[in-house]
Amino acid sequence: MSRRDFSKAVKRAAAARADGHCEACTARLAYGQYHYDHVLPDWLGGEPELENCQVLCITCHRLKTADMDVPRIAKTKRTSDQAISIRKPRQIRGWRKFNGEAVRAASRRD
Ligand SMILES: [Zn+2]
Repeated sequence: MSRRDFSKAVKRAAAARADGHCEACTARLAYGQYHYDHVLPDWLGGEPELENCQVLCITCHRLKTADMDVPRIAKTKRTSDQAISIRKPRQIRGWRKFNGEAVRAASRRD
């Protein structure tokens, strides 16, 4: 699935709505120092429409992405993987004895 970016028309409307200020912290936006953010990330089904677009300063966008978007997407992936029985691969924890021989011990058995 490719990322669906906002159209120029949506960006223009969002910029007009923001009126030169970050829509999260209300800081004055400097030329080129802001991003158009998906309120609901594209990966989670957020549409590239004005209602889902906000103009954020780079600091706010970075914080939102790291603190909200990435964990939400990761949790969604984990949950949907779990639903179709996709698990983390077995991890080798070390060695154990089996019939007198040293064999690698996995964290769990399948
Ligand atoms: Zn901000």
